[in-house]
Amino acid sequence: VISSLGEFELIERITAHLGERAPASLLIGIGDDAAAWAPTPGTITVATTDALVEGVHFDTTTTGWVDLGWKAMAENVSDVAAMGCRPRYALLALGLPPEREVAEIEDLYRGIAECAAAYGFALVGGDVVRAPTVVINVTLVGESLPVDGEKRPLLERSAARVGDVVAVTGPLGGSAAGLRLLTAAQSLEPRSPDENARAALCEAHRRPKPRVAAGLALIEAGLRCAIDVSDGLVADIGHICERSGVAVELAAEQVPIFPGATAVFGTEALDLALSGGEDYELVCAAPESTLARASDLLQQRGERRLIPIGVVVPAEGTQARVRVRLADGTFRPLDARGYQHFGNAP
Ligand code: ADP
Ligand code: MG
Repeated sequence: VISSLGEFELIERITAHLGERAPASLLIGIGDDAAAWAPTPGTITVATTDALVEGVHFDTTTTGWVDLGWKAMAENVSDVAAMGCRPRYALLALGLPPEREVAEIEDLYRGIAECAAAYGFALVGGDVVRAPTVVINVTLVGESLPVDGEKRPLLERSAARVGDVVAVTGPLGGSAAGLRLLTAAQSLEPRSPDENARAALCEAHRRPKPRVAAGLALIEAGLRCAIDVSDGLVADIGHICERSGVAVELAAEQVPIFPGATAVFGTEALDLALSGGEDYELVCAAPESTLARASDLLQQRGERRLIPIGVVVPAEGTQARVRVRLADGTFRPLDARGYQHFGNAP
């Protein structure tokens, strides 16, 4: 257990999983009073942080420790991707109950190392403190493409304009569907014999893949407005609407549903796609011609083309900021505020 190791022995054990590879620009990594690196000339630095508390944000009965390490990092990587930037350096403050197994924390670092290798960033420092439950606080620093001209190379929530088309980088609802399968595995009556579809849904929940390359391509194509789908499509588009002072009308039949979700969950799959969250695809808004250019660039780079799902319209008084138009022309009644930490009762 953790209390049988000294603090330094524990840090040594867990950081051993991180490997030796570090970017040349890293001057000082783990082991000094602070990490130090040289910023890439001409870039803008972005920073984001997220805390995960056991029992509130994760549950190791549905998410194993290696997956948890991946997810804790991926969540932050997605925030950096949603700024149109690439992740570079991470810091990790851990709260640990002394009676927990060291092997669990080592697994956590295996997942962290996998995510760092997959996305090309380095874990350069952190802290370990005693806590009544596991707390994982990740800080991630990223950098933009080099500044070139007057338009800063960042994807901002405030940059949507009336007349823009709203598009998404990939299918939605996979993570929420996977979570349902993982938590209800025994009680759920399987509607689909397709084991591959079920495995893909669980994988979408266990190993979400933030869209860093897509975010960079959006910037290069001239886009400046995006957010990642973390709370749920409708809730996250709501953040764009608030910051941009606009409203969005979505076309329900255009919203891409994760493959297999409909086979397992029927018409409920649309709800999972609209409000499920944790998909980590990017939602962006721009004039149609800019989106077309971005789609071509994405395709050139082996990424999926953008999928148009709606339009930006003027915000009007009492109307909901985000409306979902169904195929029959009526609007879907909405109770899709997404996940909120402090009370989300209907
Ligand atoms: P200090 O007392 O100066 O805060 P620590 O003894 O906490 O230093 O940490 C020693 C080194 O180990 C520092 O470089 C720190 O960033 C790193 N470190 C501590 N905890 C972690 C962790 N959980 N993950 C990665 N690096 C860590
Ligand atoms: Mg310390």
